Amino acid sequence: MDTEASMRPSTTPRSRALATEAVHAGRDDLAALGLHAPPIDLSTTYPSYDSRGEAERIDTFATTGAKLDGPPVYARLDNPTTARFETALARLEGTESAVSFASGMAALTAVLLARASMGLRHVIAVRPLYGCSDHLLGAGLLGTEVTWTDPAGIAEAIRPDTGLVVVETPANPTLAEVDIRALAHSCGSVPLLVDNTFATPVLQRPVEHGARIVLHSATKYLGGHGDVMGGVVACDEEFAARLRQVRFATGGVLHPMAGYLLLRGLSTLPVRVRAASASAAELSRRLATDPRIARVHYPAVGGAMVSFEVYGDPHRVISAVRLITPAVSLGSVDTLIQHPASISHRIVDEGDRQASGVGDRLLRMSVGLEDVEDLWADLCQALSDPPARTTAGSVPESLPAGR
Ligand SMILES: *Cc1c(COP(=O)(O)O)cnc(C)c1O
Repeated sequence: MDTEASMRPSTTPRSRALATEAVHAGRDDLAALGLHAPPIDLSTTYPSYDSRGEAERIDTFATTGAKLDGPPVYARLDNPTTARFETALARLEGTESAVSFASGMAALTAVLLARASMGLRHVIAVRPLYGCSDHLLGAGLLGTEVTWTDPAGIAEAIRPDTGLVVVETPANPTLAEVDIRALAHSCGSVPLLVDNTFATPVLQRPVEHGARIVLHSATKYLGGHGDVMGGVVACDEEFAARLRQVRFATGGVLHPMAGYLLLRGLSTLPVRVRAASASAAELSRRLATDPRIARVHYPAVGGAMVSFEVYGDPHRVISAVRLITPAVSLGSVDTLIQHPASISHRIVDEGDRQASGVGDRLLRMSVGLEDVEDLWADLCQALSDPPARTTAGSVPESLPAGR
């Protein structure tokens, strides 16, 4: 006979939806602490009267990279505020763990060092990547060696010392997409890293498609307000342990204040991404039929980024926007536009840049939360701005000084 208990699910409780995790993950202990907002712990060090106990804990960390039990020892090792952000991001990406860093580039650096320290110095990467990621790999600054290939060439490019395959999808700045599942299959036992900065876990969870490592420039959508720099790697606990050891030794830690702001940013991530994506999709549709636009790039997965190639002078569009801010970076509540060949991808060799689709007429726009008609009106006036109105290379007179 059915009892009430036997009718309840006997296994783990139903997993919570992303929107619910976004506001609750990393905060599970707050009610018991008698708190509502997460506390910020700015301590760089922590008192301990038991140095034998500390020695044991440090030994454990040095050999395993596991999170410390008990209070932190020193802020380069561990911080409870940034740990909340890590817990929450891991939940959103559906991974065991996440490890945070001072920036997206610090996060990529730690991944490369972690693999290189295991003797796996060869990286396979698909262009385009964010300009500085391309540069870090291409210049071999960390002693790694890169083979650039398209997705079809990955299996063939794998060597015994290959430690990582790196892709961005949608890619910065062309919004080109790869089939993560197919690509993960070609990687065999080599871990696939997907830079998920543009899609965010709201639109795409790469681990569900076979990626092993997910990287974010948290500076962008996760923070979401253009006021915090950070990076984070979501992965299994085994690799996270390695990353914590690298982070401890190299020091690229996320500041606790940044950890607080990023946790706060996550709580509105699903709402922000969905609202901005709806506007971006609408703008991409309008741009696609505009005679001044040669080509529009908008990803199948959706998102709040739109890139487009103009027939006219792209620099003129940048100098003519009024509501939209002409600035690099992305993922903020306000709309930003920039010219990748001049700024975000300037550091990439011109030939490589052109070959990966980052042409001189390409503009990249990060759509924010403004009213879509106001954005369209600004774009329209900027696209039809006559050349006489501004002097090339100078800021228009109508702008306040310092802009
Ligand atoms: C900005 C960006 C990075 C680098 O992140 P920072 O936080 O600026 O160091 C890496 N990947 C992508 C896709 C980016 O847009």
